[in-house]
Amino acid sequence: MSPREPLRGDELPRVVTPPPGPRSRAAARRLRRVEGAAIWGADESPVVWSRARGAVVEDLDGNRYIDLTAGFAVASLGHANPDIARAVSAQARRLTQGLGDLAPHHARERLVRALAKLGKPYGLDRVLLASTGSEAVELALKTAHLATGRRRFVAFAGAYHGQSYGALAATDYPGLRAPVERQLPDLAIRVPYPYAYRCPLPERCAGCDLRCFEEAARIVDRALSGPDPPGAVILEPIQGRSGCVAPPPDFLARLRAYAHERKLVFVLDEVMTGAGRTGPFWAWERSTPNAVPDLLVAGKGLGGGVAIAALLGRAKLMDLWRKHVLPTGEAPHASTFYAHPLACAGALAALPRLGAEETGAHVERAGALFLDGLRALEAEFPAVGEARGAGLLCAIELVRDRGSREPAAELAWKVVGALQEDGVLAYPGGVHDNVVCFTPPLTITEEQLRAALAVLRGVLERVP
Ligand code: PMP
Repeated sequence: MSPREPLRGDELPRVVTPPPGPRSRAAARRLRRVEGAAIWGADESPVVWSRARGAVVEDLDGNRYIDLTAGFAVASLGHANPDIARAVSAQARRLTQGLGDLAPHHARERLVRALAKLGKPYGLDRVLLASTGSEAVELALKTAHLATGRRRFVAFAGAYHGQSYGALAATDYPGLRAPVERQLPDLAIRVPYPYAYRCPLPERCAGCDLRCFEEAARIVDRALSGPDPPGAVILEPIQGRSGCVAPPPDFLARLRAYAHERKLVFVLDEVMTGAGRTGPFWAWERSTPNAVPDLLVAGKGLGGGVAIAALLGRAKLMDLWRKHVLPTGEAPHASTFYAHPLACAGALAALPRLGAEETGAHVERAGALFLDGLRALEAEFPAVGEARGAGLLCAIELVRDRGSREPAAELAWKVVGALQEDGVLAYPGGVHDNVVCFTPPLTITEEQLRAALAVLRGVLERVP
């Protein structure tokens, strides 16, 4: 078939050459020769993506995959969404760079107002933009510091908040921290996250009356009476990279009430879970409607595929920055690509669709269908220790043995590799690297999800 044949985005897998095919291998070899090694893992020949549409990715060899990654949950409205492409391309002809703190531009004005409108019902009507989730996380931590004057913050076991220095200080992935550990500031007071499947406390979550919350509170109380107390608490409402780990329903609300009693700024990192990924626009709305944060971090799918992130916050916190304008008149925060016009235009096109009722309804329906399928695999295959999901943020946790729940890390990598061979893209995750994560475009069709489940079943039959 001609590589020019247009993609529709709802196709099923078509593997024409065992991946990685010769073109992928050659391109990866050329790239690896000159690219810094920090971005390369053990896989010397990854598949090289060539183009994508909707929930379909095509590689350089013409293989077509159902994409259950959305590029780490970014292409939320499908790859190459035509509305976003049109908006970005129109903006590319109009204005492609602003002047940061010196001269805002029109798309920035429109996007910031749209996001403030989104946050307003929750009192989160001030907005700062960023280009990555990590940068927005750091803005949240800086803003909390302005409010409390305190250096440290509470962060959770298994948390992923990004990899730039400040964000990495909050992230709990020892392997990612290790290369620069000695340079990392000691800012995080680490407390346990409620991970029901691997509850570290003697009673497992069911019926435990949130012992994990009490344990966290005990650690924080101790730190609060120490010489260097925390000023904020930051967490993901559902841990994404750690494999779709959701706390029990009351956890967030209790944590928020506790944080406010102790005068801690309550920060939710919805970079992975926000913008409709789990059904409602924000994940905290799913089960704990009264867990409204003081600062809310968004990114990834927020722009429907463009590089944009944001911090939404209460005016009384966000306006503290006013006091820090430099004597020269310069702004206390800026970056060259702040509110990049192309990203603003893309996000502006994405937002109405991301917030539309039918998008949420589709995510709920498709997510339920997919999770049912994953649960059926859990019932059938002993290697699937647990299937989890919230909307279209889903995962299976693989174990060597159901009883001991010993993590099967190499199996997760094998499953991801075998899925790719059969035309489905997923990615490994979890604090023990034993989780297969699924974050498809929110627009994926039910037929594609059923086809992907059939492929996964075949892989589980053959791989372990
Ligand atoms: N927070 C969360 C919850 C994330 O999942 C991520 C990325 N996986 C980040 C922050 C960092 O975002 P970025 O990679 O865009 O810096």
